Amino acid sequence: MQKRAWFQCINPQCGTTYPLNSIVYQCEKCRSLLEVQHDMRALAARDGKTWKKLFEDRYKCNRWPFGSGVWGKKEWVLPQIADDNIVSLYEGGTNLFWAERFGKTVGVADLWLKLCGNTHSGSFKDLGMTVLVSQVKQMISEGAPIKAVVCASTGDTSAALATYCAAAGIPSIVLLPRGKISLAQLIQPVSNGSLVLYLDTDFDGCMKLVREITEDPTLYLANSMNSLRVEGQKTVGIEIVQQFDWEVPDVFIIPGGNLGNVSALGKGLLMLKDLGLVRKLPRIVVAQAQRANPLYLAYKRNFEVFEPVKARKTLASAIQIGNPVSFEKAVRTLKQFNGIVEQAAEAELADAAAMGDRTGMFNCPHTGVALAVLLKLLKAGQIDKTQRVVVISTAHGLKFTEMKVKYHQKELGFPCRYANQPIELPARLDAVKKALHKALAAQKS
Ligand SMILES: *Cc1c(COP(=O)(O)O)cnc(C)c1O
Ligand SMILES: [Zn+2]
Repeated sequence: MQKRAWFQCINPQCGTTYPLNSIVYQCEKCRSLLEVQHDMRALAARDGKTWKKLFEDRYKCNRWPFGSGVWGKKEWVLPQIADDNIVSLYEGGTNLFWAERFGKTVGVADLWLKLCGNTHSGSFKDLGMTVLVSQVKQMISEGAPIKAVVCASTGDTSAALATYCAAAGIPSIVLLPRGKISLAQLIQPVSNGSLVLYLDTDFDGCMKLVREITEDPTLYLANSMNSLRVEGQKTVGIEIVQQFDWEVPDVFIIPGGNLGNVSALGKGLLMLKDLGLVRKLPRIVVAQAQRANPLYLAYKRNFEVFEPVKARKTLASAIQIGNPVSFEKAVRTLKQFNGIVEQAAEAELADAAAMGDRTGMFNCPHTGVALAVLLKLLKAGQIDKTQRVVVISTAHGLKFTEMKVKYHQKELGFPCRYANQPIELPARLDAVKKALHKALAAQKS
């Protein structure tokens, strides 16, 4: 079969290529990151209209593996993989939530949340992990000596890796920063039978160890510096545009930590344009927690310098990353998409998440970061109220209940403006009536 996708060094002065079944995560010549390149001329043999029709016909269908939001776009993702080696849990195809009430409150009518957390392991990480684990299964079937797949994680990558590996019968190993992930996130790989290494360090410390242990080629690296993940994650932007009947929104806001996902979002949108499915590109905004903001700091200096920071504890624990692996890819994306980087403080992100919940969302704190950034950019006039804005909601709020409980109990060290507490009462009619009366009177005033 002709070669239709391969790894390629992102350094334009180098550009070395590697086959997709080689165990390589960084360019062996210049140490730059790799990305998957597709034979765009072969893909362009179908015109934009034909691709749209194909993608629409497959969307949520029951024909293996094309009903998955990722594998419905198989030719753009991993064209050479055998369908038998695909490990899919029907990821993608998640709801676009019209944030009508939230939007009205802040004065923007055309606001949408892409609920990437409504998926098997509860975060967008499923989109990338289906691709990576499928490729591993294919490589094992070809005789590659892979004993286990390994990742460092802030909680969601490990959950996705554990579940896809368990579904495929492939051993997985996860390195987690002790006390820095939620209980729900910890119990996911435990339940799925991963080897869970719980370390007294932060994410950056875990990542450093993982890079060292995966120098052994029998331990395959599943972090997003492995660009196979990006191929699955890039379908999110394509899918959103499809959900709008191929109309490109004006602005995307995406929370960023290790910065693989923003690069993925950009990559998918560029393919849509290059292959003639759409004409315009949106603006992309990366939202960072102020306590883990190296991209924001670099943006403020026009990306002339990049300095890793020591990430401080943030409620947005999945983006508590000080030395993002995909920094260069993210900068490239931001330059292509007229990008903005904005940050949110702890009270801002928690209040924005809670305010959204009051309008029918159930936000994770990272989505809170993105919503807080939306509020700031509206206020600053950097987003226009007539624009169509899509917020990428990266995980399900149920993974982050500790944070929500503390918010509503006002235990976070700031006012928690939207706190709502259960009223404890004796189970007696008079007590219940009195409480109802009081609550309804308060509502009127
Ligand atoms: C991983 C993750 C992010 C950050 O994505 P990056 O690719 O690391 O920038 C944001 N939110 C949630 C919930 C995540 O799990
Ligand atoms: Zn190179």
